Amino acid sequence: MTTMTRTPIDRHDAQEIIEHVNEGHVPELILCARAFTSISVPTHTQMTDVFTDGFQLDVTDADGTTRHFVPYSVPESPHVAIRATVDAAMKKLGIKPDARVAHWNVLDNRVITPHFRRLVLDLQEDTREDWKPGYACRFDVPGQEHGRPYTLRRLNGQQTEVDVYCHDHTLGSQWAEGLQAGDTVTARGGRHEGMPDFSKGAALLLGDETALPTIAALLEGWAHEHPVHVLLEVRDPADQRYLDDVTVPAHCAVTWLTTGVESGASIRHEFSGLAQAPAAVWGALEVESAKTTRKALQAAYPEADVRITGYWRVNEMN
Ligand SMILES: Cc1cc2nc3c(=O)[nH]c(=O)nc-3n(C[C@H](O)[C@H](O)[C@H](O)COP(=O)(O)OP(=O)(O)OC[C@H]3O[C@@H](n4cnc5c(N)ncnc54)[C@H](O)[C@@H]3O)c2cc1C
Repeated sequence: MTTMTRTPIDRHDAQEIIEHVNEGHVPELILCARAFTSISVPTHTQMTDVFTDGFQLDVTDADGTTRHFVPYSVPESPHVAIRATVDAAMKKLGIKPDARVAHWNVLDNRVITPHFRRLVLDLQEDTREDWKPGYACRFDVPGQEHGRPYTLRRLNGQQTEVDVYCHDHTLGSQWAEGLQAGDTVTARGGRHEGMPDFSKGAALLLGDETALPTIAALLEGWAHEHPVHVLLEVRDPADQRYLDDVTVPAHCAVTWLTTGVESGASIRHEFSGLAQAPAAVWGALEVESAKTTRKALQAAYPEADVRITGYWRVNEMN
């Protein structure tokens, strides 16, 4: 436990960083806890504050939860410094940053709905058990330094399927459309989304086209008995066929909505009238829409564990 006074950053910025990190980067926080705190086997870690020179973690292990301060490894802005600190944690723990780079052969590339392509990839010798349905990987995409994240929709023995929403000739769409059997793709990382505890009660899942593969993988592996409501917003109703080959659990109700002028607005309109208040909510939308939707859900269902992630960003240059 630290008692030193730290220099805070802007509260709005801090809140955004904390929400983003806790929703999508818990595995990286666990690495920081292992490398830079006295807790060697953490079971869970949450970021609880951000300062000019480091961040605060609540770290849980078999003995309970304790609070720790992790100083940045470089004197940079929090956004840059947090990434650098994760890199430093990996280095200290002897984890190579490229340990999770995989090269997979394309076996098939087919159109499954008007805007979705299914890439069938051969994992080859890379049959490590840590690839699971629902894991997101960053795929190398020509013309884009940081690649594009897509979800492993299904795993069948040595094969995995990745479903890409193709639209408006974007870099990600062109990459998926151009791939042919025999090509090689490069996947980096591979982690599961931070999910709420769905065993607590009724669940709500929501999202637009880009969230469909993650939601499909979730529904196929669903192991909870409580009701689950799914709110999906798509631009082209023909893309609703995407769920046709997905086995949805009993007690699952799917509501399809059409995207209006504002991404996510039809979902926000719909969830206020849910028959049963959800205990756990997961969703993915456009970044700004995700923030608005998260706030609206937290106001409507203050008891619920709400995780809404930004999956794509409106490019203001367009
Ligand atoms: C963890 C994670 C998992 C993901 N899994 C999947 C997945 O399995 N399948 C999948 O298809 N996507 C998935 N996504 C979303 C996917 O990464 C983005 O859609 C993609 O990076 C956008 O890149 P782009 O090259 O298509 O468009 P960009 O170059 O990012 O954007 C170009 C233009 O297109 C617009 N645009 C971008 N995306 C959309 C959109 N969805 N709808 C409307 N306009 C858009 C932008 O506003 C911009 O004007 C995931 C994202 C994350 C973070």
